[in-house]
Amino acid sequence: MRNIYLDNNATTQPAPEVLAAMEPFLRDLWGNPSSMHRFGGQVKRHVERAREQVAALVHADPAEIIFTSCGTESDNTAIRGAVEAAMQRMNVVTSRVEHPAVLAPCRYLAEKGCRLHEIAVDAEGQLDMVQLGEALRDGPAVVSLMWANNETGVIFPIPEIAEMVKAAGGVLHTDAVQAVGKVPVDMRKTAVDMLSMSGHKIHAPKGVGALFVRKGTRVHPFLLGGHQEESRRAGTENVPYIIGLGCACEMARLGLEKEQAALAMRRDRLEKGLLATCPDARVNGDRVHRLPNTLNISFEYIEGESILYMLSDVGIAASSGSACTSGSLEPSHVLRAMGVPFTAVHGSVRFSLSRYTTDQDIGATLEHMPGIVRRLREMSPFGRK
Ligand code: PLP
Repeated sequence: MRNIYLDNNATTQPAPEVLAAMEPFLRDLWGNPSSMHRFGGQVKRHVERAREQVAALVHADPAEIIFTSCGTESDNTAIRGAVEAAMQRMNVVTSRVEHPAVLAPCRYLAEKGCRLHEIAVDAEGQLDMVQLGEALRDGPAVVSLMWANNETGVIFPIPEIAEMVKAAGGVLHTDAVQAVGKVPVDMRKTAVDMLSMSGHKIHAPKGVGALFVRKGTRVHPFLLGGHQEESRRAGTENVPYIIGLGCACEMARLGLEKEQAALAMRRDRLEKGLLATCPDARVNGDRVHRLPNTLNISFEYIEGESILYMLSDVGIAASSGSACTSGSLEPSHVLRAMGVPFTAVHGSVRFSLSRYTTDQDIGATLEHMPGIVRRLREMSPFGRK
């Protein structure tokens, strides 16, 4: 059985080129980049080269890039660090559809006395800009809004949001973990103050990320204890993974245009095919402003998890909009915020493609899905066949 991996928003296969770039730094070039001697110096040069590669992907200055351990750390550093640096009671503004790596620190800050605004989205998953405007009028704010949603792929108009936040005197962080490497992200063209990235979403390994912090942005470090990263993130640098992230960013930058088009073509073929062959299917989220690799689709009256099990039996990996928490099915907070009907929330499946997804992968998925949906409908407890 051939394995087909369509869960690239969860994590991606490390690129062979990335692994090859990392290897010397696991084996021979193991010096500490902070050391004054030759062992350190030769490694530091490569870390700085990786910083340039990461910066180039988002058109930033290398000095504006801080290496972190993951997207979650980048998000926490940005949000908690900006509130702490403000030295005054801040409003925290976010949306109802953020990743938990953003929602949890925002809610934590609310417990610590910040006023929290969680902005609603419409049925397409697009941000309520009127509500955002109202929240910004409520006082000085640290705003965290995602560039692209991990479940639906919906893209928020971050450049426009940045104008609004800047006009209101706020600080804007964007979680671009799902956006970088899939769509153009250009820090010269938007007034974003901070931006999070994660290596394992762009074919680098898990355990490395980056945070862009625009020059002049005040952010308190999250980790204290060393002078690494210009005292902005303490802890000895994870050199091999940083090298891997640099390589992955360079590959993403060089391949972006071509890959974007290929991803969209395959994703659209999958979407069209599923809508044509599976009755009572509906796409969740804005189909225009959307990542080229993501399809979130609901098959009404059946459980997404059951679809995933049956897909898994034939070697296809996808994921569901709902997470199974301690035996009870917890419906997706993103789809619920969009007002997706109950019967569709539970039947949602996310297919997310990568540069390694082939036409055969899409063809095989289209072959298996109608039978799976039909069989599950025949067993459906909701009574609809
Ligand atoms: N933000 C978004 C939108 C994500 O999709 C993820 C991971 O799924 C994260 C943050 C967290 O990134 P990491 O797994 O690197 O901590």
